[in-house]
Amino acid sequence: MAKATIAAPTDTPNTKSYRSGHVFDELGMAHDPNNLYLQTIDAVLTAAEVLELPHHLQLILAQPKNEVMAHFPVKMNDGSYKLFKGYRVQHNNALGPYKGGIRFHPEVSLDDVKALSALMTMKCSLVRVPFGGGKGGVKCDPRALDRDELMRVTRRFVSAIASIIGPDHDIPAPDVGTNSQVMAWFADTYQNIAGANMRHDSLRVVTGKPIEMGGSVGREKATGQGLVDVVAEMLPAFGTPLEGMRVSVLGYGNVGSWVGRLLAERGAIIVAVMDHTGAIHNEKGIDAQMLAEHCAETGGVAGFGKGVATNGGVKAGVGADAISEEEFYRTTVDLFVPAALEQMIDEEKAGWLDCKYYAEGANAPTTPAGERVLMKNGVEILPAILCNAGGVTVSYFEWVQNKSNVTWDIETVDRELNKHMVLAARRTQLAKHRYECDMRTAAYIAALDQIGKVYAMRGIFP
Ligand code: GLU
Repeated sequence: MAKATIAAPTDTPNTKSYRSGHVFDELGMAHDPNNLYLQTIDAVLTAAEVLELPHHLQLILAQPKNEVMAHFPVKMNDGSYKLFKGYRVQHNNALGPYKGGIRFHPEVSLDDVKALSALMTMKCSLVRVPFGGGKGGVKCDPRALDRDELMRVTRRFVSAIASIIGPDHDIPAPDVGTNSQVMAWFADTYQNIAGANMRHDSLRVVTGKPIEMGGSVGREKATGQGLVDVVAEMLPAFGTPLEGMRVSVLGYGNVGSWVGRLLAERGAIIVAVMDHTGAIHNEKGIDAQMLAEHCAETGGVAGFGKGVATNGGVKAGVGADAISEEEFYRTTVDLFVPAALEQMIDEEKAGWLDCKYYAEGANAPTTPAGERVLMKNGVEILPAILCNAGGVTVSYFEWVQNKSNVTWDIETVDRELNKHMVLAARRTQLAKHRYECDMRTAAYIAALDQIGKVYAMRGIFP
């Protein structure tokens, strides 16, 4: 059987005109329908128009406040020097300090980071954490770097952006390709170069740190936990209980593997999983915990359960059959969770999906053309700014704990996270009914409503 891989996104051009004569033209923004930034802002502006957000606020939110691009050299282990490109984009800070992850990935681009920073603004507002939106990244392949090289890339990147971040100004965190170890080097570097009056408090410049270094319990699983909280709040109300719910998961990194484990704990059956190494399937359910351990050991889902197949089938929970990419997408499930990269579910993949609900674990995993197909097929889309806001919510708890020199226990973190997620889900549902729109537009409306109120109070300086 053909090995499944995660293919580059393809999409048919969006026939919708990109707000010709409107905000895009006024700002001189190019008309490229496949550009993630334009797609993202287009969706935000659709909601802004429904909400009748004042025009000047639409203009402000259509562009990030600051965009920094830095090039920095790093000495590699073989003695050569390599030049890296890093980004930090600060989209909006009307609600509080800029907040958002740092991504290490070979395909990182300025427009992608801009899009992700805008999504952070929306996400923080929707879950009502007092942060704005930012995002950063370094164009590199962390899998191709060894530990020392990764540390040097991180430290040089921190020194390149140190003057524009800060514990009360702009607070990075992990994202694709970075983890708590990278955050530990990040915090250490910042602490070493921060001015003397800042040193005592400077660990707070990043969240997602190791627990021993001021990280919060529950942060690692938080994005997955938040998604499960949203699903548990919404799907039983639509008539689908978690117990016995059939699920497939695209991507089994931090978000996907925690979604798998936490849904399985609640009685759901994980029938198919795919990542960059392959796709697997077990009609009776894959053991999500064992799969997470397999991925940690081998780097991906491929090969899971090999050797335990019995008579053309596999034992429940123990193993899985390898399937093709198309078979993975076509698997009949109740819930499909895209938890890999952006723009992966295009028109073709969306057409293959056979699910009732679609909960976005990744940021912006669905192209506009893919979204149109899902909607036409009656799939209920639970949007990313709602479903994956658990990570930044527990980042906020970490920042609060650091600021007040206390540590919360896991029960407190989980309980407070659940409150934020459930209220955000209800806010979204309320906006959906009030404005008679789809769930993504509703989530943006609920987020923009808060930002609009704050701008109305603050006014525009001077
Ligand atoms: N990178 C995560 C996200 O996209 C978390 C950001 C944070 O914790 O600040 O939501």
